[in-house]
Amino acid sequence: NESVGPEPFGRADKRCAVTPSTVQRFSKNDIEIIIEAGAGIAAGYEDDAFTDAGASCVEDIGPHLSDSDFLVCVNRPGDKHIDALKGGAVVVGHLDPFFQKPLIEKLADKKLSAISVEMIPRSSRAQKMDALSSQASLAGYVMVMQAASNLPSILPMMMTPSGTIKPAKVFVIGAGVAGLQAIATAKRLGANVLAYDTREVVAEQVESLGAKFLKIDIGETGQTKDGYAKELTDEQKAKQQDAQKDAIASSDIVITTAQLFGRKPPQLISRDTLKLMKPGSVVVDMAAQGGGNVEGSEPGQTVTVEGVTLIGTGDWSQQVARAATDMYANNVYNLIDEFYSQEEKQFNLDLDDEILSGCVITHDGAIRNDMLLNAYK
Ligand code: NAD
Repeated sequence: NESVGPEPFGRADKRCAVTPSTVQRFSKNDIEIIIEAGAGIAAGYEDDAFTDAGASCVEDIGPHLSDSDFLVCVNRPGDKHIDALKGGAVVVGHLDPFFQKPLIEKLADKKLSAISVEMIPRSSRAQKMDALSSQASLAGYVMVMQAASNLPSILPMMMTPSGTIKPAKVFVIGAGVAGLQAIATAKRLGANVLAYDTREVVAEQVESLGAKFLKIDIGETGQTKDGYAKELTDEQKAKQQDAQKDAIASSDIVITTAQLFGRKPPQLISRDTLKLMKPGSVVVDMAAQGGGNVEGSEPGQTVTVEGVTLIGTGDWSQQVARAATDMYANNVYNLIDEFYSQEEKQFNLDLDDEILSGCVITHDGAIRNDMLLNAYK
């Protein structure tokens, strides 16, 4: 976890890429794990737990890198670690490849095989390795907890001799993995939940969680072959923003999770729309770090805009570092295990495999992903 964290935080992440449980499973496969002392503390795992499971705990992994076949990070490796690795070694992490061209070029130049967990295909077979989904599910939960703790009211209906409090109204924009978890969490807390997504196929999933789906006619929207949203035209964007206004104005909490894969997230809520909300209402912008769904949101900051508490998330995983570590470490273990040959005692980097062909973005001195190469032009 001493890797370079997501901007603008840039500090060591509280998450760790292995747990004592995954170390034990790696050890059974004769895979030796070397971990830096203290790497798991912030996630609730002490060094002893790792050594008991079979890992070697060292003060500095630097001197061990030239002998290592894998460097497994939560985020991106720093220069000193990349420089110490031998050619042909595999680097795994949230490499943020669309926005980290110099890093990816460096990984290619060093002849490292870089696995970007963001590029793992969203297929049934890859589900157990899908770090984007595991981390997004937790994010959806955290968003609701943050919103609830900032709202000067409660989420469930409460009928008492002192009066009746109506259930809070929560509007979730973007019903992908994070949005669906936010919907489920807000429902469990007793809120009335409404949701919208440009991919109409998710309406059924939203309704199956007991929430309502806001129908907006903005014409053909569709999704990419990988299930990601397509960017809207300017006219569609304007229509969406207009049609959402009433729902936003009457909500106590709005949670925005809209993303466009490999691109800046769309701006969905303007300052003028925030003005329509009741003072003290809460908006959580889960896309704040990448540019924001909400005008005025700041990554990692809670600000007041037009009387509304606007939470710009960014380091949400740090609040649930243990759960995020458990899931991420399992994803990493499952990825390595899937391609590890027991007989040959080695990782089989089969670039014809549909999973590896999606997520191995540098190999043998070249960047080998067309989407990235196009984005870098
Ligand atoms: P994401 O993080 O890329 O985007 C979040 C949501 O924002 C998406 O639902 C997207 O449609 C929505 N969005 C984009 N622009 C919007 C706008 N203007 N207004 C409202 N909403 C907008 O999405 P994700 O959670 O990573 O999911 C992407 C796809 O991958 C989905 O189809 C999901 O079902 C699929 N998926 C499949 C698997 C699997 O099969 N193993 C696993 C995870 C996700």
